[in-house]
Amino acid sequence: MEKAPPSICKWIQTLELGYSDVEKPPDGGICFHCAGRHAKLLKCARCKVATYCQRDCQVEDWKIGKHKLACQSYARVGPSMQIDDEDDKQQACNELFGRIRFYVCPYAVHKATTLGRGFLFIQSDRTLATMSLTLPKDSYGRPTDNRALLIYYLTLGEFDAEVCREDFEMATVRTKLQEAVENYDEEDEIVILMRFRCGHVSLGTSALVPDHRVCKKLGIDYYSESTAAALQLNIDDS
Ligand SMILES: [Zn+2]
Ligand SMILES: [Zn+2]
Repeated sequence: MEKAPPSICKWIQTLELGYSDVEKPPDGGICFHCAGRHAKLLKCARCKVATYCQRDCQVEDWKIGKHKLACQSYARVGPSMQIDDEDDKQQACNELFGRIRFYVCPYAVHKATTLGRGFLFIQSDRTLATMSLTLPKDSYGRPTDNRALLIYYLTLGEFDAEVCREDFEMATVRTKLQEAVENYDEEDEIVILMRFRCGHVSLGTSALVPDHRVCKKLGIDYYSESTAAALQLNIDDS
């Protein structure tokens, strides 16, 4: 078993809103290695999600390291496409935030200079399980999905007026969110609130990466021209 990376975020509160929305596993009709379409495929015995047209493809996919990296993320989700374990959910949120923090930390620092204290509201119209997968590329090296995160920098006032009005269940995190927004160290950290289609919500803080001074400079470079209300990041690009 590979060792889990050190925790990127400190989670303050996690909850499940009252939905139970599950997505289908990634296309089972495709060989995860050669991307060939076949009626009958072998399944990886570890994760029970990845499929292969033949043993050679499976061995090669592991050998080149592609599935070795992805297998853990599939195993956590399994054929049910749900993450059941609370620690696994936190770990999935950590990894996801780790993938975007170099973009969103400068964004938050930049927004804070004009809007004041607030937090990053990170939203996805996909489930946490789906967002946590390391998906295969097709035979041309193109991503096989198009998973996006929508990121808003909000003040508490905006949270009340905009988020809670449309989604009253989000008021459940109001107390802890206020505490976090009033107490975080602006030079060192940011407050994040993640929300997924499956109803999973995570509230936490994360250290600024890069540091505050660099974030401030990058924020001006990247975002001072932008008039968009939100930042959209596609995690399948690159
Ligand atoms: Zn194949
Ligand atoms: Zn596997």
